[in-house]
This record gives sequence, C-alpha cells and structure tokens, in this order.
Amino acid sequence: MKSLVKALPEPGIWLEDRPVPAIGAEDVLVRVRKTGICGTDVHIYKWDDWASRTIPVPMIVGHEYAGEIAELGASVRGLAVGQRVSGEGHVVGGGSRAARGGKYHLDPDTKGIGVNLPGAFAEYVRVPAFNIVPLPDSVDDEIGAILDPLGNAVHTALSFDIAGEDVLITGAGPIGIMAAAVARHVGARHVVITDTNPARLDLAGRVADVTPVNVATTELRDAMARLKMREGFDVGLEMSGAPAALEQMIDHMVMGGRIALLGIPSRAFPFDLGKVVFRMITLKGIYGREMFETWHKMLAMLESGLDVRKVITDRLPAADYARAFEQAASGRGGKIVLDWT
Ligand code: NAD
Ligand code: ZN
Repeated sequence: MKSLVKALPEPGIWLEDRPVPAIGAEDVLVRVRKTGICGTDVHIYKWDDWASRTIPVPMIVGHEYAGEIAELGASVRGLAVGQRVSGEGHVVGGGSRAARGGKYHLDPDTKGIGVNLPGAFAEYVRVPAFNIVPLPDSVDDEIGAILDPLGNAVHTALSFDIAGEDVLITGAGPIGIMAAAVARHVGARHVVITDTNPARLDLAGRVADVTPVNVATTELRDAMARLKMREGFDVGLEMSGAPAALEQMIDHMVMGGRIALLGIPSRAFPFDLGKVVFRMITLKGIYGREMFETWHKMLAMLESGLDVRKVITDRLPAADYARAFEQAASGRGGKIVLDWT
C-alpha cells in the first residue's frame, strides 16, 4: 500500500510502498479515504528536536483520518465492514489506575498512532476497535479527517463553563479557530481571538463570528474597550504555545479567571507565577481528547449546527504530499486535507 513514511532521521517525508498491516483479534483495519495534516506531522517532517527524540525511524506518520472499515479482528463486536469511521489516535495501555477508573485520557501509558505506532497516512491503518468512532451520515470524510484537532478544540473550549462568558483565545491556528467556533456555538458572549499573522486572523473571521485582534499592531485593551468589556476575560484558551501570548492572557483576565492551556511551548520559559496567585487564576493543561466524552459532544455539536468546514483551506491528492507539507510548514493557510482514494 502507498504510505507516507518518515524513512530517514533527517528533514523530509517519503512516499513508499509498504505491506498492508496485519490486524490482531481486537483490531480493525481501516481503508483510509481522507487525512488531515497536523502540526505534529510538520514537526516530524522538519525533524526538530522533539521529533528526533520521539519518532522511531522508519515510521508511517499521520493520525487524523476518516475512512471505512475494511476488516474486523476475530473478537470485534458492534462494528461492520464498510462502516464509515474515524478514531482516537491515542492508544491507551489500560493498566493504570486512571484507565481502570475510566479516565482513559489520563492514562500515562498512552502511545500515538503516527508517532510511535504505524500511522494513517497510508491506504490502510490498523486501529484498536476500542479507538474506533463511527461517523454519522451528516459528517463527511473531510470533516471526519479533522475530528482529532476539532476534538482538541472542543476539549479545551468545554473545560470551563463558557456560556454567557467573555472568552479570549490566543493563537488563530486551525485549533484556535475551531475553538472560537465552538465557543460561539455553546453561547459565549464575546469571543476574541489573537494572533500576529494577518492571514490567520482573516481566516478566523471567515470561519466563526469572532473578534480577531492582531496583537502585533493593536492593543488588546483597545479591542476590549470597543466591546465595552470593563474588567477582563472570564475564560482563556491558550492555543499558540507562545510565552508572550500566555503572559498577555494572564494580564487581561478577570480576578478568578480560568485558563485552559493547549498550546505547547517549544521550550521552558520564565513566568510570573505571582500574577496567577494574587489574581487567583486557575490554569488547566489539556492533552488530546477525553475518551470518549469529547468525541460524543463534538459529533453532537456538528449534528446541531457547529460548522468548521471553512477551516479547511487546501484539499490535495495524497500524491501531492510534498506541496501539502510545504504549505503546512508555511503557516499561511488553515487545515490541509489529503485524499487517499
Ligand atoms: P499553529 O501553530 O497552526 O497555530 C498557532 C498560532 O499561534 C499561529 O497562527 C501563530 O501565528 C500564533 N501565535 C504566535 N505567537 C502568538 C502570540 N504572541 N499571540 C497570539 N498568537 C500567536 O497550531 P495549531 O495546529 O492550531 O495548534 C495550536 C497549539 O496546540 C500548538 O501549540 C500545538 O502544538 C498545540 N497542540 C496541543 C495538543 C495537545 O494535546 N495539548 C494537541 C494538538 C496541538
Ligand atoms: Zn493532530
């Protein structure tokens, strides 16, 4: 089968012919139709420090996918060949206290499809049946292929009660933009999204009813004044990983504000914890999606009118992977979807 492989420990990615994976009794073989390119895939493509520490080579990459079930393991019940599916890319160990208590997303023994297990940028991917999420008819394959990052957005945006609250999102990447759409969908009052990249802020304005603020050229306080906001934001969703964005967020929260952190800083940075203490701010880290509560809520919201389709800005055949990865690495567009059919 055609597969995008991290074949060598150096920048790049290679289209290679690989055997179709053999599945175990509790696995499902998915015939992949569409895949999304994630920031993680770009790190692997560029072969940065994180990637070279984390990815065993060779490795088929990719973890954002939708497709149909091609084969079921002998013990799998409740799924059918031909069924349209996506799936959770975090494969849990299951032996930890958290997993045995049903908090699968807190399992420390988690492995990642396309990170340390063979990935989905291929004609077929092996997935544990436990991880499979059937797709409703109203969720087509390209939306199915971006449920993993939409799930990051949903998990973060729903970490705190945001109905009727003023929400600040720092970072208008695909996930920040989708979080803005979710915040609007569940009834936040003002949703302000910041970035320093005008193209990303334009895209945010096209995807969701939000107030984009370019913090390279505009004071956030001025944007707040225009919205007649007096005190600060009630909830913050940090989606850039930029130290300056977190600092700015903390400075613009109400006393007792709540912040969910999804963005991953590229390195450790100094940070004024005193502001968090004296202003009684809650910080909560977010990793992945809750299994499977986030998936349930995400699909329910898509079925009740949440629309994130415009965040997909590029659709390319898998054979055009080189162009797709160049575009993804440029940070210009939104989500890029590859077609494997
Ligand atoms: P992205 O890199 O496409 O977007 C980040 C955006 O932040 C960019 O548009 C960038 O211009 C902007 N930015 C940079 N400095 C800023 C500043 N000072 N203020 C405001 N914005 C600024 O990333 P993405 O794919 O949308 O993902 C968002 C973040 O979430 C990334 O850090 C990613 O690594 C992380 N992530 C975390 C998880 C998790 O499970 N915790 C999962 C997926 C992604
Ligand atoms: Zn991803």
